[in-house]
Amino acid sequence: MVENLQSALSSDGFAAALRVVQTLRANDYAAYLVGGCVRDLLLGHAPKDYDVATDAHPEKVQQLFTKTHAVGAHFGVVIVCDETTDAQTEVATFRNDMGYEDGRRPTAVSYADTPEDDVARRDFTINGMMLDPVGLTAQNIDAKVLDFVNGREDLRDGIVRAIGDPAVRFEEDKLRMLRAVRFAARFGFALEEDTYSAIHDNAAKIIQVSRERVRDELTRMLIEGHARKAFEMLDATGLLKEVLPEVAKMKGVEQPPQFHPEGDVWVHTLLVLEKLPAGCSMELGWAALLHDVGKPPTFRAPDPAQPGDRIRFNGHAEVGTTMTRAICNRLRMSNEETEQIALLVANHMRFGDVMEMKPATLKRFFRLPKFDEHLQLHWMDASSAHGDLRLYDYAKDKYENAPAEEIKPALFVSGRDLIDAGLKPGPRFKELLHTIEDAQLEGRITSKEEGLALLRQLTASDTA
Ligand code: ATP
Ligand code: MG
Repeated sequence: MVENLQSALSSDGFAAALRVVQTLRANDYAAYLVGGCVRDLLLGHAPKDYDVATDAHPEKVQQLFTKTHAVGAHFGVVIVCDETTDAQTEVATFRNDMGYEDGRRPTAVSYADTPEDDVARRDFTINGMMLDPVGLTAQNIDAKVLDFVNGREDLRDGIVRAIGDPAVRFEEDKLRMLRAVRFAARFGFALEEDTYSAIHDNAAKIIQVSRERVRDELTRMLIEGHARKAFEMLDATGLLKEVLPEVAKMKGVEQPPQFHPEGDVWVHTLLVLEKLPAGCSMELGWAALLHDVGKPPTFRAPDPAQPGDRIRFNGHAEVGTTMTRAICNRLRMSNEETEQIALLVANHMRFGDVMEMKPATLKRFFRLPKFDEHLQLHWMDASSAHGDLRLYDYAKDKYENAPAEEIKPALFVSGRDLIDAGLKPGPRFKELLHTIEDAQLEGRITSKEEGLALLRQLTASDTA
Protein backbone atom coordinates (compact mmCIF):
# COMPACT_ATOMS: atom_id res chain seq x y z
CA MET A 1 0.00 0.00 0.00
CA VAL A 2 2.75 2.44 0.90
CA GLU A 3 4.48 1.37 -2.33
CA ASN A 4 1.39 2.30 -4.37
CA LEU A 5 1.17 5.57 -2.53
CA GLN A 6 4.82 6.27 -3.20
CA SER A 7 4.44 5.56 -6.89
CA ALA A 8 1.32 7.79 -7.03
CA LEU A 9 3.30 10.59 -5.41
CA SER A 10 6.00 10.33 -8.05
CA SER A 11 3.53 10.32 -10.98
CA ASP A 12 3.17 13.14 -13.52
CA GLY A 13 -0.42 13.71 -12.45
CA PHE A 14 0.56 14.34 -8.84
CA ALA A 15 3.52 16.54 -9.85
CA ALA A 16 1.26 18.64 -12.07
CA ALA A 17 -1.34 19.09 -9.31
CA LEU A 18 1.41 19.98 -6.84
CA ARG A 19 2.71 22.69 -9.17
CA VAL A 20 -0.81 24.09 -9.51
CA VAL A 21 -1.18 24.24 -5.71
CA GLN A 22 2.24 25.86 -5.32
CA THR A 23 1.52 28.52 -7.95
CA LEU A 24 -1.82 29.38 -6.36
CA ARG A 25 -0.24 29.60 -2.91
CA ALA A 26 2.62 31.75 -4.20
CA ASN A 27 -0.11 34.18 -5.22
CA ASP A 28 -1.68 34.14 -1.76
CA TYR A 29 -4.55 31.84 -2.52
CA ALA A 30 -5.55 28.77 -0.54
CA ALA A 31 -5.26 25.51 -2.51
CA TYR A 32 -5.62 21.80 -1.70
CA LEU A 33 -6.15 18.48 -3.41
CA VAL A 34 -9.78 17.48 -2.99
CA GLY A 35 -12.30 14.71 -3.52
CA GLY A 36 -11.65 11.37 -5.20
CA CYS A 37 -7.87 11.77 -5.40
CA VAL A 38 -7.60 12.32 -1.64
CA ARG A 39 -9.79 9.29 -0.98
CA ASP A 40 -7.73 7.16 -3.37
CA LEU A 41 -4.37 8.26 -1.92
CA LEU A 42 -5.59 7.48 1.60
CA LEU A 43 -6.67 4.04 0.38
CA GLY A 44 -3.27 3.55 -1.23
CA HIS A 45 -4.74 3.50 -4.76
CA ALA A 46 -3.38 5.48 -7.68
CA PRO A 47 -5.90 8.28 -8.43
CA LYS A 48 -7.20 8.46 -12.00
CA ASP A 49 -6.99 12.22 -11.95
CA TYR A 50 -6.27 15.06 -9.55
CA ASP A 51 -8.64 17.83 -8.54
CA VAL A 52 -7.61 21.02 -6.76
CA ALA A 53 -9.89 23.29 -4.74
CA THR A 54 -8.99 26.95 -4.24
CA ASP A 55 -10.44 30.30 -3.18
CA ALA A 56 -9.12 31.88 -6.38
CA HIS A 57 -11.97 32.66 -8.80
CA PRO A 58 -11.88 31.12 -12.29
CA GLU A 59 -10.69 34.33 -14.03
CA LYS A 60 -7.73 34.45 -11.65
CA VAL A 61 -6.92 30.80 -12.29
CA GLN A 62 -6.95 31.49 -16.02
CA GLN A 63 -4.58 34.43 -15.55
CA LEU A 64 -2.12 32.48 -13.43
CA PHE A 65 -1.60 29.58 -15.85
CA THR A 66 -0.66 29.71 -19.51
CA LYS A 67 -2.54 26.65 -20.73
CA THR A 68 -6.13 26.40 -19.47
CA HIS A 69 -9.57 25.28 -20.67
CA ALA A 70 -12.52 27.06 -19.13
CA VAL A 71 -14.92 24.14 -19.67
CA GLY A 72 -16.98 24.76 -16.59
CA ALA A 73 -15.94 28.30 -15.71
CA HIS A 74 -19.52 29.32 -14.87
CA PHE A 75 -19.49 26.47 -12.32
CA GLY A 76 -16.12 27.66 -11.10
CA VAL A 77 -14.08 24.94 -12.82
CA VAL A 78 -10.97 25.48 -14.95
CA ILE A 79 -8.73 22.76 -16.39
CA VAL A 80 -5.03 23.55 -16.12
CA CYS A 81 -2.62 21.74 -18.46
CA ASP A 82 0.87 21.20 -17.20
CA GLU A 83 3.37 22.84 -19.54
CA THR A 84 5.93 20.06 -19.45
CA THR A 85 3.91 16.86 -19.06
CA ASP A 86 0.50 17.97 -20.41
CA ALA A 87 -1.09 16.33 -17.35
CA GLN A 88 -4.41 18.00 -16.60
CA THR A 89 -5.56 19.24 -13.22
CA GLU A 90 -9.14 20.29 -12.60
CA VAL A 91 -9.17 23.45 -10.51
CA ALA A 92 -12.46 24.26 -8.78
CA THR A 93 -13.19 27.42 -6.84
CA PHE A 94 -14.58 26.87 -3.32
CA ARG A 95 -18.33 27.16 -3.64
CA ASN A 96 -21.77 26.48 -2.22
CA ASP A 97 -24.21 25.09 -4.76
CA MET A 98 -27.61 26.71 -4.69
CA GLY A 99 -30.75 25.43 -6.37
CA TYR A 100 -30.93 22.29 -8.48
CA GLU A 101 -33.37 22.63 -11.31
CA ASP A 102 -33.14 19.22 -12.98
CA GLY A 103 -32.15 17.38 -9.84
CA ARG A 104 -28.52 17.41 -10.83
CA ARG A 105 -26.85 20.54 -12.10
CA PRO A 106 -26.68 23.51 -9.78
CA THR A 107 -28.63 26.38 -11.30
CA ALA A 108 -26.59 28.92 -9.41
CA VAL A 109 -23.27 28.83 -7.62
CA SER A 110 -21.98 31.19 -5.04
CA TYR A 111 -18.33 31.17 -4.25
CA ALA A 112 -17.35 30.23 -0.73
CA ASP A 113 -14.34 31.46 1.21
CA THR A 114 -13.34 28.40 3.14
CA PRO A 115 -12.57 24.74 2.45
CA GLU A 116 -15.11 23.85 5.11
CA ASP A 117 -17.94 25.48 3.13
CA ASP A 118 -16.78 23.81 -0.05
CA VAL A 119 -16.84 20.28 1.28
CA ALA A 120 -20.36 20.74 2.64
CA ARG A 121 -21.72 20.66 -0.95
CA ARG A 122 -19.87 17.45 -1.88
CA ASP A 123 -21.66 14.11 -1.93
CA PHE A 124 -20.11 11.62 0.52
CA THR A 125 -17.78 11.91 3.47
CA ILE A 126 -15.19 9.69 1.77
CA ASN A 127 -15.25 12.18 -1.17
CA GLY A 128 -15.22 15.24 1.06
CA MET A 129 -11.64 15.50 2.28
CA MET A 130 -8.86 17.87 1.25
CA LEU A 131 -5.14 17.21 1.33
CA ASP A 132 -2.11 19.48 1.44
CA PRO A 133 0.27 18.09 -1.19
CA VAL A 134 3.25 20.31 -0.34
CA GLY A 135 5.88 18.25 1.45
CA LEU A 136 3.56 15.24 1.35
CA THR A 137 5.15 11.82 1.86
CA ALA A 138 3.76 8.33 2.34
CA GLN A 139 4.65 8.66 6.02
CA ASN A 140 3.07 12.03 6.89
CA ILE A 141 -0.15 11.74 4.88
CA ASP A 142 -2.41 11.50 7.94
CA ALA A 143 -1.21 14.84 9.26
CA LYS A 144 -1.81 16.50 5.89
CA VAL A 145 -5.54 15.77 5.59
CA LEU A 146 -8.23 18.40 6.15
CA ASP A 147 -11.22 16.46 7.30
CA PHE A 148 -14.34 18.40 8.34
CA VAL A 149 -16.80 15.58 7.72
CA ASN A 150 -15.22 12.59 9.44
CA GLY A 151 -14.32 11.09 6.09
CA ARG A 152 -11.22 9.35 7.38
CA GLU A 153 -13.18 7.37 9.91
CA ASP A 154 -15.75 6.32 7.31
CA LEU A 155 -12.96 5.39 4.92
CA ARG A 156 -11.38 3.25 7.62
CA ASP A 157 -14.70 1.65 8.55
CA GLY A 158 -15.78 1.11 4.96
CA ILE A 159 -18.87 3.33 4.97
CA VAL A 160 -20.50 5.46 2.29
CA ARG A 161 -22.29 8.24 4.16
CA ALA A 162 -23.92 11.34 2.66
CA ILE A 163 -22.55 14.64 3.89
CA GLY A 164 -25.34 16.41 5.81
CA ASP A 165 -28.94 15.19 5.74
CA PRO A 166 -29.08 12.36 3.20
CA ALA A 167 -32.73 12.98 2.26
CA VAL A 168 -31.95 16.62 1.47
CA ARG A 169 -28.80 15.74 -0.44
CA PHE A 170 -30.56 13.14 -2.62
CA GLU A 171 -33.47 15.49 -3.17
CA GLU A 172 -30.99 18.11 -4.48
CA ASP A 173 -29.33 15.69 -6.85
CA LYS A 174 -30.90 12.31 -7.52
CA LEU A 175 -27.88 11.01 -9.37
CA ARG A 176 -26.09 10.80 -6.02
CA MET A 177 -28.19 7.72 -5.23
CA LEU A 178 -26.49 5.83 -8.06
CA ARG A 179 -23.10 7.26 -7.15
CA ALA A 180 -23.55 5.96 -3.58
CA VAL A 181 -24.10 2.45 -4.91
CA ARG A 182 -21.19 2.71 -7.33
CA PHE A 183 -18.71 3.81 -4.66
CA ALA A 184 -19.96 1.21 -2.17
CA ALA A 185 -19.57 -1.53 -4.79
CA ARG A 186 -16.18 -0.31 -5.98
CA PHE A 187 -14.64 -0.24 -2.53
CA GLY A 188 -16.64 -3.07 -0.99
CA PHE A 189 -18.16 -0.56 1.46
CA ALA A 190 -21.55 -0.55 3.17
CA LEU A 191 -24.15 2.18 2.79
CA GLU A 192 -24.59 3.96 6.11
CA GLU A 193 -28.07 3.31 7.54
CA ASP A 194 -29.65 6.74 7.04
CA THR A 195 -28.02 7.07 3.63
CA TYR A 196 -29.44 3.68 2.68
CA SER A 197 -32.95 4.57 3.95
CA ALA A 198 -32.94 7.86 2.10
CA ILE A 199 -32.08 6.07 -1.15
CA HIS A 200 -34.73 3.47 -0.49
CA ASP A 201 -37.35 6.17 0.15
CA ASN A 202 -36.39 8.25 -2.87
CA ALA A 203 -35.50 5.54 -5.39
CA ALA A 204 -38.51 6.26 -7.64
CA LYS A 205 -37.20 9.80 -8.19
CA ILE A 206 -34.14 8.50 -10.03
CA ILE A 207 -36.14 8.77 -13.26
CA GLN A 208 -35.88 12.56 -12.99
CA VAL A 209 -32.20 12.27 -13.89
CA SER A 210 -31.32 12.34 -17.59
CA ARG A 211 -31.01 8.92 -19.18
CA GLU A 212 -27.48 9.61 -20.36
CA ARG A 213 -26.33 10.21 -16.77
CA VAL A 214 -28.09 7.10 -15.54
CA ARG A 215 -26.50 5.13 -18.37
CA ASP A 216 -23.02 6.42 -17.55
CA GLU A 217 -23.34 5.44 -13.89
CA LEU A 218 -24.68 1.97 -14.72
CA THR A 219 -21.96 1.47 -17.31
CA ARG A 220 -19.30 2.34 -14.77
CA MET A 221 -20.81 -0.16 -12.35
CA LEU A 222 -20.55 -2.83 -15.05
CA ILE A 223 -16.95 -2.16 -16.04
CA GLU A 224 -15.27 -1.37 -12.74
CA GLY A 225 -14.92 -5.03 -11.72
CA HIS A 226 -17.57 -5.07 -8.98
CA ALA A 227 -20.70 -5.45 -11.06
CA ARG A 228 -22.28 -8.15 -8.92
CA LYS A 229 -22.08 -6.12 -5.75
CA ALA A 230 -23.35 -3.02 -7.56
CA PHE A 231 -26.41 -4.79 -8.99
CA GLU A 232 -27.22 -6.48 -5.69
CA MET A 233 -27.24 -3.04 -4.09
CA LEU A 234 -29.29 -1.53 -6.90
CA ASP A 235 -31.81 -4.26 -6.23
CA ALA A 236 -31.75 -3.90 -2.44
CA THR A 237 -32.20 -0.12 -2.57
CA GLY A 238 -35.12 -0.34 -5.01
CA LEU A 239 -33.21 1.54 -7.73
CA LEU A 240 -33.03 -1.44 -10.10
CA LYS A 241 -36.75 -1.67 -10.80
CA GLU A 242 -36.79 2.04 -11.60
CA VAL A 243 -33.85 2.15 -13.98
CA LEU A 244 -34.05 -1.36 -15.48
CA PRO A 245 -37.47 -2.90 -14.79
CA GLU A 246 -36.81 -5.63 -17.38
CA VAL A 247 -33.80 -6.80 -15.36
CA ALA A 248 -35.67 -6.63 -12.04
CA LYS A 249 -38.21 -9.06 -13.54
CA MET A 250 -35.53 -11.80 -13.68
CA LYS A 251 -35.95 -12.30 -9.96
CA GLY A 252 -37.79 -15.49 -9.07
CA VAL A 253 -37.96 -16.74 -12.67
CA GLU A 254 -37.13 -20.42 -12.23
CA GLN A 255 -34.96 -22.41 -14.64
CA PRO A 256 -34.56 -26.13 -15.39
CA PRO A 257 -32.19 -27.45 -12.69
CA GLN A 258 -30.38 -29.83 -15.06
CA PHE A 259 -28.99 -26.84 -17.01
CA HIS A 260 -29.08 -24.28 -14.23
CA PRO A 261 -28.32 -25.90 -10.88
CA GLU A 262 -27.37 -22.42 -9.57
CA GLY A 263 -30.95 -21.12 -9.39
CA ASP A 264 -33.25 -18.58 -11.02
CA VAL A 265 -32.46 -16.16 -13.85
CA TRP A 266 -31.43 -13.38 -11.48
CA VAL A 267 -29.10 -15.63 -9.47
CA HIS A 268 -27.52 -16.77 -12.75
CA THR A 269 -27.15 -13.20 -14.00
CA LEU A 270 -25.45 -12.15 -10.76
CA LEU A 271 -22.97 -15.01 -11.15
CA VAL A 272 -22.22 -13.81 -14.68
CA LEU A 273 -21.77 -10.22 -13.48
CA GLU A 274 -19.36 -11.48 -10.85
CA LYS A 275 -17.08 -12.69 -13.64
CA LEU A 276 -16.90 -9.38 -15.50
CA PRO A 277 -13.30 -8.25 -15.30
CA ALA A 278 -12.40 -4.67 -14.36
CA GLY A 279 -11.72 -2.70 -17.51
CA CYS A 280 -13.91 -4.84 -19.79
CA SER A 281 -15.73 -3.14 -22.66
CA MET A 282 -19.09 -1.52 -21.93
CA GLU A 283 -20.62 -3.74 -24.60
CA LEU A 284 -19.53 -6.92 -22.83
CA GLY A 285 -20.75 -5.50 -19.52
CA TRP A 286 -24.20 -4.67 -20.83
CA ALA A 287 -24.48 -7.97 -22.71
CA ALA A 288 -23.59 -9.89 -19.54
CA LEU A 289 -26.41 -8.07 -17.76
CA LEU A 290 -28.94 -8.46 -20.58
CA HIS A 291 -28.12 -11.83 -22.20
CA ASP A 292 -31.12 -13.54 -20.53
CA VAL A 293 -33.43 -10.50 -20.37
CA GLY A 294 -35.74 -12.38 -22.77
CA LYS A 295 -36.30 -15.20 -20.29
CA PRO A 296 -38.96 -13.68 -18.01
CA PRO A 297 -41.38 -12.97 -20.89
CA THR A 298 -40.77 -16.35 -22.60
CA PHE A 299 -40.98 -18.52 -19.47
CA ARG A 300 -43.16 -21.58 -19.98
CA ALA A 301 -43.82 -24.00 -17.11
CA PRO A 302 -43.56 -27.75 -17.78
CA ASP A 303 -46.69 -29.18 -19.37
CA PRO A 304 -48.28 -31.47 -16.71
CA ALA A 305 -49.80 -33.56 -19.53
CA GLN A 306 -46.27 -34.41 -20.73
CA PRO A 307 -44.34 -36.35 -18.12
CA GLY A 308 -40.67 -35.32 -18.07
CA ASP A 309 -41.33 -31.95 -19.73
CA ARG A 310 -39.19 -29.11 -18.44
CA ILE A 311 -39.30 -25.32 -18.09
CA ARG A 312 -38.67 -23.74 -21.47
CA PHE A 313 -37.74 -20.28 -22.72
CA ASN A 314 -38.36 -20.74 -26.42
CA GLY A 315 -36.99 -17.88 -28.48
CA HIS A 316 -35.54 -16.06 -25.47
CA ALA A 317 -32.44 -14.91 -27.35
CA GLU A 318 -34.58 -13.32 -30.11
CA VAL A 319 -37.03 -11.72 -27.69
CA GLY A 320 -34.08 -10.64 -25.53
CA THR A 321 -32.39 -9.03 -28.54
CA THR A 322 -35.45 -6.89 -29.24
CA MET A 323 -35.65 -5.92 -25.57
CA THR A 324 -31.93 -5.17 -25.51
CA ARG A 325 -32.25 -2.79 -28.45
CA ALA A 326 -35.13 -1.03 -26.72
CA ILE A 327 -33.13 -0.66 -23.50
CA CYS A 328 -30.04 0.61 -25.36
CA ASN A 329 -32.16 3.14 -27.26
CA ARG A 330 -33.89 4.27 -24.11
CA LEU A 331 -30.49 4.85 -22.46
CA ARG A 332 -29.30 6.74 -25.56
CA MET A 333 -26.43 4.44 -26.42
CA SER A 334 -24.71 4.96 -29.76
CA ASN A 335 -25.68 2.82 -32.75
CA GLU A 336 -22.33 1.01 -32.65
CA GLU A 337 -22.68 0.19 -28.98
CA THR A 338 -26.27 -0.96 -29.40
CA GLU A 339 -25.36 -3.12 -32.39
CA GLN A 340 -22.58 -4.98 -30.59
CA ILE A 341 -24.60 -5.49 -27.38
CA ALA A 342 -27.55 -6.78 -29.44
CA LEU A 343 -25.27 -9.14 -31.42
CA LEU A 344 -23.81 -10.55 -28.21
CA VAL A 345 -27.30 -11.21 -26.82
CA ALA A 346 -28.65 -12.55 -30.13
CA ASN A 347 -25.82 -15.07 -30.58
CA HIS A 348 -25.25 -16.28 -27.03
CA MET A 349 -27.25 -19.50 -27.52
CA ARG A 350 -25.47 -20.46 -30.75
CA PHE A 351 -22.55 -21.91 -28.81
CA GLY A 352 -24.85 -24.83 -28.05
CA ASP A 353 -24.53 -25.88 -31.71
CA VAL A 354 -20.85 -25.20 -32.40
CA MET A 355 -19.88 -28.88 -32.47
CA GLU A 356 -22.51 -29.66 -35.08
CA MET A 357 -21.84 -26.63 -37.26
CA LYS A 358 -20.59 -27.25 -40.78
CA PRO A 359 -17.15 -25.67 -41.25
CA ALA A 360 -18.70 -22.93 -43.41
CA THR A 361 -21.28 -22.07 -40.72
CA LEU A 362 -18.60 -22.03 -38.04
CA LYS A 363 -16.40 -19.71 -40.09
CA ARG A 364 -19.33 -17.36 -40.67
CA PHE A 365 -20.00 -17.45 -36.89
CA PHE A 366 -16.38 -16.44 -36.27
CA ARG A 367 -16.87 -13.43 -38.55
CA LEU A 368 -19.05 -11.71 -35.97
CA PRO A 369 -17.28 -8.46 -35.06
CA LYS A 370 -15.16 -8.83 -31.90
CA PHE A 371 -15.78 -12.56 -31.73
CA ASP A 372 -13.56 -12.77 -28.64
CA GLU A 373 -16.32 -10.95 -26.73
CA HIS A 374 -18.81 -13.64 -27.80
CA LEU A 375 -16.38 -16.25 -26.51
CA GLN A 376 -15.94 -14.37 -23.25
CA LEU A 377 -19.70 -14.07 -22.74
CA HIS A 378 -20.18 -17.76 -23.40
CA TRP A 379 -17.44 -18.62 -20.92
CA MET A 380 -19.10 -16.49 -18.23
CA ASP A 381 -22.54 -17.90 -19.09
CA ALA A 382 -21.48 -21.57 -19.01
CA SER A 383 -19.30 -21.28 -15.93
CA SER A 384 -22.18 -19.55 -14.12
CA ALA A 385 -24.53 -22.46 -14.92
CA HIS A 386 -23.71 -26.15 -15.43
CA GLY A 387 -19.98 -25.40 -15.59
CA ASP A 388 -19.41 -27.56 -18.66
CA LEU A 389 -16.79 -25.77 -20.75
CA ARG A 390 -16.41 -28.30 -23.58
CA LEU A 391 -18.25 -26.11 -26.09
CA TYR A 392 -16.20 -23.12 -25.01
CA ASP A 393 -12.90 -25.01 -25.35
CA TYR A 394 -13.94 -26.35 -28.75
CA ALA A 395 -15.00 -22.93 -30.11
CA LYS A 396 -11.96 -21.17 -28.66
CA ASP A 397 -9.55 -23.71 -30.10
CA LYS A 398 -11.14 -23.60 -33.56
CA TYR A 399 -11.26 -19.79 -33.50
CA GLU A 400 -7.69 -19.31 -32.36
CA ASN A 401 -6.39 -21.78 -34.91
CA ALA A 402 -8.30 -20.36 -37.85
CA PRO A 403 -6.23 -17.76 -39.70
CA ALA A 404 -8.15 -14.66 -40.85
CA GLU A 405 -7.71 -15.65 -44.51
CA GLU A 406 -9.46 -18.93 -43.78
CA ILE A 407 -12.36 -17.33 -41.93
CA LYS A 408 -12.90 -14.73 -44.63
CA PRO A 409 -10.84 -15.67 -47.68
CA ALA A 410 -10.74 -13.67 -50.91
CA LEU A 411 -13.58 -15.20 -52.89
CA PHE A 412 -12.80 -17.39 -55.93
CA VAL A 413 -16.15 -16.45 -57.45
CA SER A 414 -17.60 -12.96 -57.03
CA GLY A 415 -20.79 -11.19 -58.08
CA ARG A 416 -18.83 -9.87 -61.04
CA ASP A 417 -18.27 -13.43 -62.29
CA LEU A 418 -21.98 -14.16 -62.01
CA ILE A 419 -22.85 -11.05 -64.02
CA ASP A 420 -20.27 -12.07 -66.64
CA ALA A 421 -22.01 -15.44 -66.79
CA GLY A 422 -25.23 -13.56 -67.68
CA LEU A 423 -26.96 -13.71 -64.28
CA LYS A 424 -28.94 -10.83 -62.81
CA PRO A 425 -28.73 -9.73 -59.15
CA GLY A 426 -31.63 -11.11 -57.10
CA PRO A 427 -32.41 -13.81 -54.51
CA ARG A 428 -31.11 -16.70 -56.66
CA PHE A 429 -27.94 -14.74 -57.42
CA LYS A 430 -27.28 -14.33 -53.70
CA GLU A 431 -28.00 -17.98 -53.03
CA LEU A 432 -25.51 -19.05 -55.71
CA LEU A 433 -22.80 -16.82 -54.26
CA HIS A 434 -23.49 -18.25 -50.80
CA THR A 435 -23.37 -21.87 -52.00
CA ILE A 436 -20.09 -21.32 -53.84
CA GLU A 437 -18.60 -19.53 -50.85
CA ASP A 438 -19.66 -22.45 -48.62
CA ALA A 439 -17.88 -24.83 -51.00
CA GLN A 440 -14.73 -22.68 -50.77
CA LEU A 441 -14.91 -22.42 -46.95
CA GLU A 442 -15.22 -26.20 -46.75
CA GLY A 443 -12.37 -26.85 -49.19
CA ARG A 444 -14.60 -28.49 -51.81
CA ILE A 445 -13.29 -26.04 -54.39
CA THR A 446 -9.72 -24.83 -54.35
CA SER A 447 -9.47 -22.48 -57.33
CA LYS A 448 -11.43 -20.01 -59.41
CA GLU A 449 -11.73 -22.57 -62.22
CA GLU A 450 -13.33 -25.08 -59.87
CA GLY A 451 -15.61 -22.33 -58.58
CA LEU A 452 -16.76 -21.42 -62.10
CA ALA A 453 -17.27 -25.09 -62.89
CA LEU A 454 -19.50 -25.37 -59.81
CA LEU A 455 -21.41 -22.27 -60.95
CA ARG A 456 -22.05 -23.84 -64.34
CA GLN A 457 -23.21 -27.04 -62.69
CA LEU A 458 -25.60 -25.16 -60.38
CA THR A 459 -27.08 -22.99 -63.11
CA ALA A 460 -27.40 -25.94 -65.50
CA SER A 461 -29.83 -27.58 -63.08
CA ASP A 462 -31.69 -24.21 -62.86
CA THR A 463 -32.50 -24.21 -66.56
CA ALA A 464 -32.92 -27.96 -66.91
P1 ATP B 1 -13.94 8.68 -9.61
O1 ATP B 1 -12.74 7.94 -9.17
O2 ATP B 1 -15.09 7.79 -9.96
O3 ATP B 1 -13.69 9.77 -10.59
P2 ATP B 1 -14.44 10.90 -7.83
O4 ATP B 1 -14.69 10.95 -6.36
O5 ATP B 1 -13.23 11.58 -8.35
O6 ATP B 1 -14.45 9.38 -8.25
P3 ATP B 1 -15.93 12.58 -9.64
O7 ATP B 1 -17.23 12.29 -10.29
O8 ATP B 1 -14.72 12.69 -10.48
O9 ATP B 1 -15.75 11.47 -8.51
O10 ATP B 1 -16.14 13.91 -8.79
C1 ATP B 1 -15.08 14.54 -8.08
C2 ATP B 1 -15.57 15.04 -6.73
O11 ATP B 1 -16.62 16.01 -6.90
C3 ATP B 1 -16.17 13.97 -5.84
O12 ATP B 1 -15.17 13.31 -5.09
C4 ATP B 1 -17.12 14.78 -4.97
O13 ATP B 1 -16.43 15.43 -3.94
C5 ATP B 1 -17.63 15.83 -5.93
N1 ATP B 1 -18.86 15.44 -6.63
C6 ATP B 1 -18.95 14.83 -7.84
N2 ATP B 1 -20.22 14.63 -8.21
C7 ATP B 1 -20.97 15.12 -7.21
C8 ATP B 1 -22.37 15.25 -6.99
N3 ATP B 1 -23.22 14.76 -7.88
N4 ATP B 1 -22.77 15.82 -5.85
C9 ATP B 1 -21.90 16.31 -4.94
N5 ATP B 1 -20.58 16.23 -5.09
C10 ATP B 1 -20.11 15.66 -6.21
MG1 MG C 1 -12.77 11.81 -10.46
